[in-house]
Amino acid sequence: MTHTIDTVALPATSPGTCRQIRFHRFKGGSGPRVYVQAALHANETPGLVILHHLLAAVIEADRKGEIQGEIVLVPYANPIGLSDNVLGNQIGREALDGGGNYNRGWPDLGQLAVSRLAGRLGDDQMANQVLIRAEIAALLAALPRPNEVVAMQLALLSEASRADIVLDVHTELVAVPGMVVGPWSMTRMQALVDRVAPDVVHVTDTPLLFDSASSRIWHTIAEAYPEAAIGQPCVSATLELRGVTDVSDELAGGDAAAIMDFLRDSGVITSPAPAATPWPGTLSPHKAILMQRTPVGGVIVYRQPLGTRVAQGQHIADIIDPAADDPEQGRTPLFAAREGLLYAYILNHLVRPNDIVVKIAGSDVWTPEAPE
Ligand SMILES: [Zn+2]
Repeated sequence: MTHTIDTVALPATSPGTCRQIRFHRFKGGSGPRVYVQAALHANETPGLVILHHLLAAVIEADRKGEIQGEIVLVPYANPIGLSDNVLGNQIGREALDGGGNYNRGWPDLGQLAVSRLAGRLGDDQMANQVLIRAEIAALLAALPRPNEVVAMQLALLSEASRADIVLDVHTELVAVPGMVVGPWSMTRMQALVDRVAPDVVHVTDTPLLFDSASSRIWHTIAEAYPEAAIGQPCVSATLELRGVTDVSDELAGGDAAAIMDFLRDSGVITSPAPAATPWPGTLSPHKAILMQRTPVGGVIVYRQPLGTRVAQGQHIADIIDPAADDPEQGRTPLFAAREGLLYAYILNHLVRPNDIVVKIAGSDVWTPEAPE
């Protein structure tokens, strides 16, 4: 057994409180380092159950001596957000102290790293990677930690930045399964796509998320020094595993099993995985993803089940105005602004003007600009 647990205490922001993050480590031999966390958006409860199942499965693999490399599991990434409960409503996505979205504001250290690496990289890829990893660690360690939220974010990112593979488990509000992957990670993340079999894979470099903050820096450095042997030793993905109410042992156990098979594919767990089924879908570039807003407020009722493929202009919802004296005048139809797959709705049907109420993945296909 190699299982150890590191407990990192966050700086207290009020007297008498102390929150902690727990990093479960499994280490055996030389192999890839993998980092998986859940519920950075602390209201996205399914990830907590997925990591519960994944932790049990990795403990079992460790007991059998199957770990070849290092696995770090963080079953709850955001203890601050987990406590963000207001009058019985779990918040968890945006910091209650005004600090914003917990999965935004990540340090973009690529250009700073590029400047610090000038004249120091050669043609030895392993030596370059050791040097770059040390620079990334030093840059992260030097960043100020002015409050509990930033201290938490940097504790997570510092740990993830040591890894070769970073997975961040999220959900939409109401949705079919999806993934978000940076273009630089896509080739190696195809194995995860095959295992998880999401309905949507959004390939994008914007906005900078937790996962892409850990992997994009390598892409930035490699682009700045094309003559140096650097590679892309860290790849990452954000998994959007359905909606916030899709909480069950059956779903979470299936998702954890898919991630376990991906870990076997990656070589960090040595037991054989069953043959993967090639994913039949198409990758969606950023321009294929439409987050459609409502022009009016009211109560939205959807007319199509999630997962429906619609044509542009198809009637997909109505927004009901409860203040209309004549109910016949009290409905505003919403038409799909583009063709595509309806993949995410909202949870609270009482909407305000300009709220995002539906996400559509169009049929534009992402292909890499050049072979990786
Ligand atoms: Zn999220």
